[in-house]
Amino acid sequence: MALPSGDRPLRRVAMISLHTSPLDQPGTGDAGGMNVYVVELSQRLADLGIEVEIFTRATSSALPVKVELVPGVTVRNVAAGPYEGLSKNELPAQLCTFARAVLRAEAIREPGYYDVIHSHYWLSGQVGLLARDRWAVPLVHTMHTMAKVKNASLAEDDVPEPPARLLGEEQVVEAADRLLANTDDEARELIDLYGAPPAKVGVVNPGVDLDLFRPGDQAAARQAVGVPENAVVLAFVGRIQPLKAPDLLIRAAARMLDQDPSLRDRLVVAIIGGPSGNGMEHPESHAELARALGVDDVTRFVKPIPRAGLADWYRAASVVCVPSYSESFGLVALEAQACGTPVVAAAVGGLTTAVRHGTTGLLVPGHGVDDFADALRRIATDPVTRETMGGAAVEHARGFGWELTAARTLAAYRTAAETMAADLAAEVAG
Ligand code: UDP
Repeated sequence: MALPSGDRPLRRVAMISLHTSPLDQPGTGDAGGMNVYVVELSQRLADLGIEVEIFTRATSSALPVKVELVPGVTVRNVAAGPYEGLSKNELPAQLCTFARAVLRAEAIREPGYYDVIHSHYWLSGQVGLLARDRWAVPLVHTMHTMAKVKNASLAEDDVPEPPARLLGEEQVVEAADRLLANTDDEARELIDLYGAPPAKVGVVNPGVDLDLFRPGDQAAARQAVGVPENAVVLAFVGRIQPLKAPDLLIRAAARMLDQDPSLRDRLVVAIIGGPSGNGMEHPESHAELARALGVDDVTRFVKPIPRAGLADWYRAASVVCVPSYSESFGLVALEAQACGTPVVAAAVGGLTTAVRHGTTGLLVPGHGVDDFADALRRIATDPVTRETMGGAAVEHARGFGWELTAARTLAAYRTAAETMAADLAAEVAG
């Protein structure tokens, strides 16, 4: 086989998103920011003339083998293991079958059909590293979350990630030609915790759909979601799981009411999203918590909604709260800001990049209920602060279009092709 060349044209990407499908509704189960990321990046790459095939594991026998997402982006639903009822922790047993289907997608066409592999999350990376060596094309990998980071800051009732995942991640870090980190912090974690060579790591911020998430009339948005015009609205958007800590918003809201009972007539706490991970086993626990704290009358649980509908909730909110224990970026924070809504977030991971403390919202160190209650009150009950921070938030979010993410990712594909060609040439010569 000819050695890969650094200047080979880049026409087609094999995008691997094994454990969660870009066709799934984000905000519940295993579907979240990564799904949005894969869809948005693929669409924007297609806009740049790159064809994208996304490989994902089929979770229903009713799914067609191939779905065109938009022209230039195809989703391939790969049968690997039982369609339904397989948890993420059981997926390593299906890696070989999945990898076989990915390799076959090239084998039935011509050699060199794909020019680059981009894998998302370590399970996809395991498939990617095999395809990389078989096809002699570069592997670009995005971690999305890292077990070592997650285990270092677990919520009280969360379970640590298993050692097999840590090892699997290390193998992918070692084999990938280029690692894309969401932020400078994540790049440092890849280097410090996983021993990634600094030259192999690039930072590419995720983006936000600035057409969908834009400022709008708050009164109209409140009418659309059924919230009184004069309400103080605190919103959480995301998967209901210990890591995301929606309970902290419920507790902080209860503390705000203790301190200012007059707020009760106006307060609305919206928890938008579906159960995920450990939360799956206790879908009712947050409703019970709200009852126990006496805030069930002001708390609304909203089932996961398509992103177009979310924009109304973001605009309707006085503040969006992102109290996560760890967060590789936090798309919700960016989406809220793009709609002109300040964010109160935990000062962890990518949220310290997504939110500008004191300007577009507040970053809270730790997970203290009082601290969150104070931060929420400072913005939600002061229209001037809300307005000023909301304006700054829109400006800040404008710097994060997906077009930029795609352009930087494409540059990373090219760098990966060059370094892989040089590495292989050196290996053969040596
Ligand atoms: N989301 C959605 N509908 C919902 C709740 C969430 O479409 O009801 C989307 C939200 O718009 C965001 C993503 O799910 O794009 C969550 O991404 P984030 O990075 O905040 O969290 P992750 O799921 O990656 O942990």
